[in-house]
Amino acid sequence: MSRPQWQRLARSRWAVPSLRTPLGASNRLPTARATFSTSVRRELMEMSGFTEEQLTVREAISHICSKFPNTYWQERDQQERDPKEFHASLAKDGWLGIALPESLGGAGLGISEATIMMQTITQSGAGMAGAQAIHANVYATQPLAKFGTKEQLETTIPNIINGTWRTCFGVTEPNTGLETLKLKTLATKADADDSYLVSGQKIWITCAQVASKMILLARTTPLEEVQKSSEGLSLFCIDLDRNQPGLDMRKIKKMGGRAVDANEVFFDNYKIPVNTLIGQEGQGFKIILHGMNAERCLLAGEALGLGYAALEKAAQYAKDRVVFGRPIGQNQGVSHPLADAYMKLEAAKHATYHATRLYDADSVPSHAIGVACNSAKYLAAEAAFTACERAVLAHGGMGYAMEYDVERYLRECLVPRIAPVSREMILNYVSEKVLDLPRSY
Ligand SMILES: Cc1cc2nc3c(=O)[nH]c(=O)nc-3n(C[C@H](O)[C@H](O)[C@H](O)COP(=O)(O)OP(=O)(O)OC[C@H]3O[C@@H](n4cnc5c(N)ncnc54)[C@H](O)[C@@H]3O)c2cc1C
Repeated sequence: MSRPQWQRLARSRWAVPSLRTPLGASNRLPTARATFSTSVRRELMEMSGFTEEQLTVREAISHICSKFPNTYWQERDQQERDPKEFHASLAKDGWLGIALPESLGGAGLGISEATIMMQTITQSGAGMAGAQAIHANVYATQPLAKFGTKEQLETTIPNIINGTWRTCFGVTEPNTGLETLKLKTLATKADADDSYLVSGQKIWITCAQVASKMILLARTTPLEEVQKSSEGLSLFCIDLDRNQPGLDMRKIKKMGGRAVDANEVFFDNYKIPVNTLIGQEGQGFKIILHGMNAERCLLAGEALGLGYAALEKAAQYAKDRVVFGRPIGQNQGVSHPLADAYMKLEAAKHATYHATRLYDADSVPSHAIGVACNSAKYLAAEAAFTACERAVLAHGGMGYAMEYDVERYLRECLVPRIAPVSREMILNYVSEKVLDLPRSY
């Protein structure tokens, strides 16, 4: 979908009144006001300062999400069933290509727009399950779009955008954890250099059960043979062909986001053609770094959406629930923690969209982008956790009931605290790279 097509689509379908209407004006977004499913009122989040394109994206995505009510996500979570209809709805209107180049059928927008898309998804009540069903298709395709060959791009990207293929991201390994540079999965040349044989194990690979493709980070030179551990890693875009020998996967039972699968993936001399290599052999770590900052921004947006969704539910419940002859929200012991959670979310929102602006700008030093994206992910994840926990507590016993959704949000909001990089590693990063303190590990 080209950019003009995308803009026409957004305008005509969702009737955004005027893209030139000043932000915060009262006549903005009437369509979404009617359709956004979880709102107490239209926006608890302050909407001033977003660009016209971000507002258009939010409007259109809200409309799609309104067809998937909380009961849909409750059932999917309980039954551990993939939300394939949701993925298909977004694909149908071209949203999976939001940040992919127009020349490849994408909308040619940036991570600023992709982040508000992901925030709108989680905030609609879809939570992390909704986000994770499409997340890798948006960010893991970034390095492919930038470094892939013409043939790779033309065969792969259109099929990911139109939803025929889903992709997953294969980085984490059980025995190396956050020490990515030590990862051991090995791809060795075979068949007179026509193919590689992959052996090793990945863990926590989201959507591997439903994906046709995996963006895989593997060693092409063993760790012992490289001078620097960042060398000898290569990135591939491979088929997940369950009929081929050497590939196995096992679902992990988990705490939240149960609608989407997370997996251990085992490779044992699994054959992949050489033309699955993205960019140059041995340059995989450098190639993937760009995508990692984008991923942090999307995760920050997802966390924010979850936090605002929880807070909206809590504020509504605190108004409705009467105990001791008055709404519980009249007690400052209930209202102040919610007000505090709101301010934390707003602060994290500014950090997040500041980071996306830097990421999308042309000439910002990579150090500044890295610090901003990591800080945003940290702050948004913490703010979301605060909001979700307080939302459960404000609901009292009902906070523990599936029907009120906030227990699901609390379970899910731990993901942005852990993945794709933990809070501790972001604190390590800022200590070292910003404060210039000695590396602690
Ligand atoms: C729901 C979910 C979905 C995921 N999806 C994907 C996916 O699709 N693809 C993928 O590749 N991965 C995925 N992951 C993996 C995720 O990125 C990792 O779990 C995460 O990077 C943490 O790695 P680890 O679990 O190995 O933690 P470990 O490295 O074992 O760390 C454990 C704990 O020790 C702390 N720690 C470790 N070293 C230090 C240190 N030097 N200083 C301070 N603290 C330290 C960490 O912060 C953490 O709290 C997913 C994880 C989850 C939970």
